[in-house]
Amino acid sequence: MSEVSRSSEVFVTVEGISRRFVPHVSLGDRIAAALGSPLEQRAVRAVEDVSLSVRRGEVLGLVGESGSGKSTLGRMICGILVPSAGLVRIDGESVMSGGRRPRKTTTRVQMIFQDPYASLDPRMRIGDTIAEGPIAHGLVSKADSLAYVQHWLRRVGLDPDAAPRYPHQFSGGQRQRIAIARALAMKPDVLVCDEPVASLDVSIQAQILNLFLALRQELSLTMLFISHHLGVVRHVSDRVAIMYLGRIVEIGTADAVYTDPQHPYTQALLASVPQLVLEDDKMVSFKPIPGELPSPMAPPPGCHFHLRCTFAQARCRVEPPVLRPAGAQAAACHFAGELQFTR
Ligand code: SF4
Repeated sequence: MSEVSRSSEVFVTVEGISRRFVPHVSLGDRIAAALGSPLEQRAVRAVEDVSLSVRRGEVLGLVGESGSGKSTLGRMICGILVPSAGLVRIDGESVMSGGRRPRKTTTRVQMIFQDPYASLDPRMRIGDTIAEGPIAHGLVSKADSLAYVQHWLRRVGLDPDAAPRYPHQFSGGQRQRIAIARALAMKPDVLVCDEPVASLDVSIQAQILNLFLALRQELSLTMLFISHHLGVVRHVSDRVAIMYLGRIVEIGTADAVYTDPQHPYTQALLASVPQLVLEDDKMVSFKPIPGELPSPMAPPPGCHFHLRCTFAQARCRVEPPVLRPAGAQAAACHFAGELQFTR
């Protein structure tokens, strides 16, 4: 990842952002509470006090298990979800203003979702789907919209004459290309890609990843690339942030994080990736991360990872670690830089 011109200018800034979801209280629970029964209402802490920055033209990969909060973070950066605390700025401007998404932000940041079929309206011709946003935001007139749609279809490798067709007439990979065309037609500065290849066949995944790389180079896009797939993220990212239970536990260049992980969770994630290589003609056994992701309704105190960490000590159970420099990156572990991992 190098040929793309990246500036040192910070373009996306996330400052101490958190998001809590408070479960809906049912009518039965409310009646029970009115009659004196204790009402236990615990919030889901999806994202906790996350700060990061992305430079103009940079791709930041965001990795973590399901439930780590990476999609929630992506949606807050996109302005789809309102943070419970903290701020997101794009080029110095807040994404949310008074709890609302300013009109300008809706074009500047676009999101690509995991399931292209669910994200496209099955009753709309794809040409109308792609043209709808640009017409509404004055990026193109209705009269010129067909040529505009055809331009973007061609740009993502689809037949420009396919504009009158419906989503069900395309394969999964083609539908994801349509979703990419729809996002790019808004001329965004920032693209948030949430597991954009997770629902595709492996051979199609490679095609879509190569499309992302080509478009990123041509259009100088700044991207947040969210995935649970470590190989995919390494392929496309300049820097990588690892999330665990709503917090960033390690962040640095893709090379540094993958070749010299400093956080036990990153190390365990890398060790758990299935390998195709045989050792001494024998299958290599996987090293799954022990235990399961704790509930975000009741995260463990101290370091959230301590229940699964083989290096945990008494201090880890009470004192939350903060991100601090370790190696060429930053890691949130009390002992980062001192631990010896075995591969
Ligand atoms: Fe493990 Fe302690 Fe580091 Fe957390 S702070 S990752 S429990 S060693």
